[in-house]
Amino acid sequence: MKTVVLIGSGHAHLEVLKALTNEEIAKNKFILISPSRQTYYSGLIPRLIAGEIEDRNLTINSADFAESKGFKFIQDEVLSVDQINKMVTLKSGEKIDFDLLSINVGGTPTKIPSDAPFNTIYLRPFDEFMSKWREVQRICSACIKPRFVVVGGGAGAVEVAAALRIRLNKNQAKGSEVHLISKGPKLCESYSDKISEQIKQSLLKSGIKIHLGESVNQIYQKTLKLSHGGNLKFDSIFIVTPTQPSEIFPGKVDSRLRLSSIMFAAGDGAEMAGYPNLPRSGVIAVHQGRHLVHSIRNVLNGLEPTVFKIKTKQLNILITGENSARLVWGNFSFEGKWALRLKNWIDQRYMSGFETAL
Ligand SMILES: Cc1cc2nc3c(=O)[nH]c(=O)nc-3n(C[C@H](O)[C@H](O)[C@H](O)COP(=O)(O)OP(=O)(O)OC[C@H]3O[C@@H](n4cnc5c(N)ncnc54)[C@H](O)[C@@H]3O)c2cc1C
Repeated sequence: MKTVVLIGSGHAHLEVLKALTNEEIAKNKFILISPSRQTYYSGLIPRLIAGEIEDRNLTINSADFAESKGFKFIQDEVLSVDQINKMVTLKSGEKIDFDLLSINVGGTPTKIPSDAPFNTIYLRPFDEFMSKWREVQRICSACIKPRFVVVGGGAGAVEVAAALRIRLNKNQAKGSEVHLISKGPKLCESYSDKISEQIKQSLLKSGIKIHLGESVNQIYQKTLKLSHGGNLKFDSIFIVTPTQPSEIFPGKVDSRLRLSSIMFAAGDGAEMAGYPNLPRSGVIAVHQGRHLVHSIRNVLNGLEPTVFKIKTKQLNILITGENSARLVWGNFSFEGKWALRLKNWIDQRYMSGFETAL
């Protein structure tokens, strides 16, 4: 009997939990380690911010799900991985042995020095964001002319800015402002110039102020200094910049998602050798997770894991305003109510995949 340890209940590992059968799990010892019994589904975070859904609607009870399938769940954080002695060390001091290990702990945000730590809100990790978001809502219900600043230029940042605008419109917050600041020359840099421009125009139309080519390297108390001149005052600042691999990662994964012959990794935290610009997305993490299941099975059966093929086109649907979203599929793109309906349907279907075993 082998011990298979999964670190982190991220989007990739949720796929592993879903796909492994109870019979497969019973033949070996499967352990899931995560600091929280829940995983937040990122696709629904913008709708939470927009005030359309509650916390419980985007919560996956990953520990319950794992336990119902025969996993042992350990609520703790992994501090380090010792691949020579095949052992991980937890924050509690406990050490867990493994024969096969998989790491899916998400990415770590790069911190920006801030004189306003209470009003500086990082979207990742989601557990921290969720507790801070409750505070922001409480404070901002009392704000006069609230001004929110979002830092970042990727799909997540675009959606957070759009969702904040929707929320403020709903609250009829007169004189409120949402600013989006990105250091790049365009939004969503991996998209074509045409699609990036369309996204920018949608945000401008909904009243979001956009500052491109601006780096935020220091946050002062309630103010940002813009490199193009002037100060920008804010009530809360949301950081949605790209994340870095976690410190517990011992290197990059190969084309088979392997860190070594006994270790796999997937998701935002896993850098793939040869793909330095692979976007950090839940869609990719899910694809990797589906591949990981086969690899784990292969290794347990004494076979080689197969090569993970990155899909050249990913389906992205971004909320861009009230009742509208933009669908992006390679160079094909359109915006409207229909795209929003499709996004909601995909999200609903994803969440329902974790209900049956609860
Ligand atoms: C606002 C926003 C909206 C987004 N919307 C979309 C979208 O619509 N579509 C899309 O494809 N992508 C979206 N993304 C990107 C998406 O969130 C990430 O790419 C995705 O969450 C990555 O998943 P992951 O599997 O790497 O891990 P995550 O889902 O980040 O989970 C990591 C897990 O590891 C656990 N963990 C962390 N550290 C440790 C440790 N040391 N020990 C044990 N466990 C640990 C955490 O508690 C967590 O359970 C969005 C991002 C943001 C910010």
